[in-house]
Amino acid sequence: MKTIYLDNASTTPLDNGVLEAMLPYLKENYGNPSSQHSAGRVASEGVLRSRDKIANLLGCKPDEVFFVSGGTEAGNWALKGACSAAAGRGKHIIVSAIEHPALIESAKDMQKFGYEVSFIGSDGSGRINPADVENAIRADTVFCAVMHANNETGVIQPVEEIGGICKKLGVFYYCDCVQTAGVLPLPVNSCDALGISSHKFYGPKGFGALYIRDGAEISRLISGGKQERGLRGGTVNAASAVGCAVALENAFRGMDENNERISKLRDNFVKKVLSEIEGSHLIGSGDRLPSNANISFDGCNGENILFVLDLNGIAVSTGSACSAGASSVSHVLTAMGLSFDRVKSAVRFTFGKYNTEEEVEIVVSALKKAVAKLRENGRVC
Ligand code: PLP
Repeated sequence: MKTIYLDNASTTPLDNGVLEAMLPYLKENYGNPSSQHSAGRVASEGVLRSRDKIANLLGCKPDEVFFVSGGTEAGNWALKGACSAAAGRGKHIIVSAIEHPALIESAKDMQKFGYEVSFIGSDGSGRINPADVENAIRADTVFCAVMHANNETGVIQPVEEIGGICKKLGVFYYCDCVQTAGVLPLPVNSCDALGISSHKFYGPKGFGALYIRDGAEISRLISGGKQERGLRGGTVNAASAVGCAVALENAFRGMDENNERISKLRDNFVKKVLSEIEGSHLIGSGDRLPSNANISFDGCNGENILFVLDLNGIAVSTGSACSAGASSVSHVLTAMGLSFDRVKSAVRFTFGKYNTEEEVEIVVSALKKAVAKLRENGRVC
């Protein structure tokens, strides 16, 4: 049975041409890009070309692109690196309460070193209010993170406005663009740093980039060799750099067409679910990513829906997890002020470029049966 994959916000398969572009760098061009011999130079040229390509797509200079292991490292580096560079100037951090754990947990790490953190909640639509960010900024604020679009709700944030506020008040602004790279133009001119992750746009896993604005004050996170202009030690993964650049190029080239096709699938799915399944509610409103549908189902547990769909060969995701008696619920949906029942019953469906209308029909039908059965059994944890 072929899986119907509706978890594209978690990860995506490799795009056409990506593996083919990477393979020579895993086989014949295996030299270390830092080596001075010709085998190293061939790999280094691949890295160089990829950096140029990515910079060109992001709209920045190649020297402003630093290769990292993905979105988690990008967020850790931005937050900890900016705080470290601003040592002595202040110990206050602002992080939106709907950020990915890469930022939330990094901020909590800094609390152990005496930093104070203001977590900014969102409104009921899932949007961060720029005025709340401005009001939270103090004389000792050194860092602010508000993501471009949320990974659970797909709600697009007013990042240009927030970036303007941070710039005006002299606060380092990091924008997590992991969910928007290849989907929306990125706010490279509105932030000091932004992060992207290759596996979210049909590139290889364990690879990404941190854009750091020329002149932005940031210290390194990973100490080691002189790679990445001395700011990020470790042998650069040439094959992944090449794959990431090809995937991002494909994503930019097909952006409008993919967004239109994916949003049509998603809209059709949402319309059917809301009209055919009583007690189902869409989470998040306003400007949203074309791929995201986060829906709660009265009287159900989202995780049980996930399991039943999985048995039917359908992959989805949920913000809540009940395992071994321990229950954790989505910090994002909670920050939106949703009731515990709604948070617990939410399921995230994220569409991608390989999904079809036929799959939408199959999923709606399986979902209707799953919800009806779970409600009949009263399976709510
Ligand atoms: N930021 C956001 C918004 C994400 O959705 C994710 C992954 O789900 C990450 C960061 C972490 O990225 P990575 O898996 O590349 O570490």
